Amino acid sequence: MTTQNNHTNGVITTSIDEWVDAHLLRLAFRNNFANISVNLAAAIGMFLVVPASSGRATGFGAVWLASILVLSLSRYAHSIWVTRRLREEPFLFGSQQRSYLAGYAAGLLMAVCLWGAMTGVAISSNMTEIRYAVLVIISALAAGATGILAPQLVVGRIYIAAMLLQGSAALMFSDQPHYLLAALGAIFTVVMLISHRNNHQVLRQSFELQYRNNELVARLKTERNLLEELNATLETRVRDRTAELKALAEQDPLTGVLNRNGLMRWCEEADVAARERGAPDLVAIFIDLDRFKQINDGLGHTIGDRVLVEVARRLRVSLGDHGALGRWGGDEFVAIVTAPPGHPLDWASELASRMRYAVEEPIHVAGRQLLIGFSAGVAVTAGERTSIGDAIHYADLAAGDAKRKGRGLTQVYKEKLLAEQERNLAICQALKTAIAQNELSVLFQPVVAAPSRAVVAYEALLRWNSREYGPISPDEFIPMAEDTGDIVPLGNFVLDAALGQLVRSGYHANPLKMAVNVSLRQLIAPGFLEAVRLSLDRHAVRPADLILEVTETIFDTRQQPIISFVLHQLNSYGVEIHIDDFGTGYSSLSRLHELPIHALKIDRSFVHALDTHGTAIIEGTALIARKLGIHIIAEGVETPLQARQLEEMGIEYLQGYLFGRPSPKLLESRHIQSA
Ligand code: C2E
Ligand code: CA
Ligand code: CA
Repeated sequence: MTTQNNHTNGVITTSIDEWVDAHLLRLAFRNNFANISVNLAAAIGMFLVVPASSGRATGFGAVWLASILVLSLSRYAHSIWVTRRLREEPFLFGSQQRSYLAGYAAGLLMAVCLWGAMTGVAISSNMTEIRYAVLVIISALAAGATGILAPQLVVGRIYIAAMLLQGSAALMFSDQPHYLLAALGAIFTVVMLISHRNNHQVLRQSFELQYRNNELVARLKTERNLLEELNATLETRVRDRTAELKALAEQDPLTGVLNRNGLMRWCEEADVAARERGAPDLVAIFIDLDRFKQINDGLGHTIGDRVLVEVARRLRVSLGDHGALGRWGGDEFVAIVTAPPGHPLDWASELASRMRYAVEEPIHVAGRQLLIGFSAGVAVTAGERTSIGDAIHYADLAAGDAKRKGRGLTQVYKEKLLAEQERNLAICQALKTAIAQNELSVLFQPVVAAPSRAVVAYEALLRWNSREYGPISPDEFIPMAEDTGDIVPLGNFVLDAALGQLVRSGYHANPLKMAVNVSLRQLIAPGFLEAVRLSLDRHAVRPADLILEVTETIFDTRQQPIISFVLHQLNSYGVEIHIDDFGTGYSSLSRLHELPIHALKIDRSFVHALDTHGTAIIEGTALIARKLGIHIIAEGVETPLQARQLEEMGIEYLQGYLFGRPSPKLLESRHIQSA
């Protein structure tokens, strides 16, 4: 077999000539049936003419017809067989093809020979009828062959020429030659050959065209397939990528829970589903971690991040499939739950408590054991009136309220909270004009040496008596001022007022120290060192008599270079740095030596807890501080018992209502008698 070429897979791999030849061969065999049939019909007709005119020729006629019959039958058989083979294998090349063609040509030439015999006999007979009959028949056969044999140029030419020229030859060489007719036969032969060649060319060209068309279609198909494939992969890739992007866009990268977008979309879907089912409203639980900032500032953001991841995990586990969890902001999470009908708020508060238990379990990070709690707020949607967005906002307000009420609580949203929020905004605005409106003042609270009760310093505490809102606690407005940046001018005001009061109270005759609270935001604001120097110079106060109270936020790792610079600069002037509210942050005692710290002010919550865990913490802190050469002050001392206990622990300085409440003037006496 030499069928190495085909185009079954849609790609034509045969050459154009091979392909056209193969088609011409098939067509030749298909046409062959007509040729054989015409030959046979003509032969029978001829046979019928011959006996009618000459009894002499009857014997020859019968033999001749029998020969034609046998030849025709074998040609039929051959053609049928080849046609079948070609149907199975349409593209045959080389020797196979040549052998079929040889059979085809042989059949035709034998037919020509038989006709030649008949022509010879007929022309030599003296019967005009037979002579002309045979001439007409061979002319007709030759003329028909120009079409029927058009697929095969050479074989067709031989057939046509042989068929006609034998007539001309017979006419010339018979007993009664007929030259004119013979010449006509020759001319006719030439015309027929030209016609045959033209037909052949038309056929060939049409096959070539077909080949080119097929080729084009095949190429287009391949290209379309490629395109389709490409489209399909592109589509899946786009789909995958879109899904990825959507997940990213709706997920908090750190904790893996939803982000705000994701949570809001979840709510939309849940809301629609709930409405369709006529299910109860959604409840928002707003979770705000307590003192998380201190973990971040004191232990660094890497540990802060790990705590968040663990908290998120615990929240998710305790939420289960009651709803969705999202991270709302830095240390804020929001859970949206579909509460069962009845008392959705009670149910959600319960759930919040379970979440709290889970989160409050000690978290072990980087060899430390951390205790985290949170303040939570709960609010329910109410159909058209309170959207889920509103509910989250209300839950946020309630969480803020829980925080103010002492942390570690869950508050259910009440309408008055919204009013409070509005008040906060208004207060923020009013604070901006407080200095200009003369609404601010500074109070002073003494700090005494432990055994002697001698006043060693005063702490300046800012007061705001708003014309519009009345007295507002610094615990309320200082954090706001820190947020807005207004703390910078406020801080400068306090510093100046405090040093002014110090001087007016006989400082130059009898020096005394003044402690001023400074927020981190103030400390790192440009111009802080300059402002301190200017104020000291203006009032001619020695830098060594100024104490700046900062909180543990100075250990914030992100701001370390600038904080360290400012504190060392102040230290070089001689200004003392005290750490306020010590023990509430997460700054470890081991980091105290990194910054120029003169004293620690132990937070009043430990003083108030002297009968429980306070003692251990204060003693431990005192021990290390003493080793580092750092002084200790205890604040919030209210009872003589507390004072005695602190003294027994070796605390050097005390401050609290027991020795004096914050007051507008410094005390006349430098010695506290009362305790
Ligand atoms: P702080 O620096 O810890 O100030 C001590 C607070 O404890 C003062 O509250 C003071 O009135 C109160 N206190 C004093 N002795 C006792 C006591 O025996 N028992 C109790 N329960 N409390 C006592 P105040 O004046 O309301 O100030 C609250 C906070 O506001 C301050 O806490 C401080 O963090 C901030 N603050 C006040 N003035 C300023 C300021 O000028 N600048 C900055 N940055 N913060 C200030
Ligand atoms: Ca203070
Ligand atoms: Ca304090």
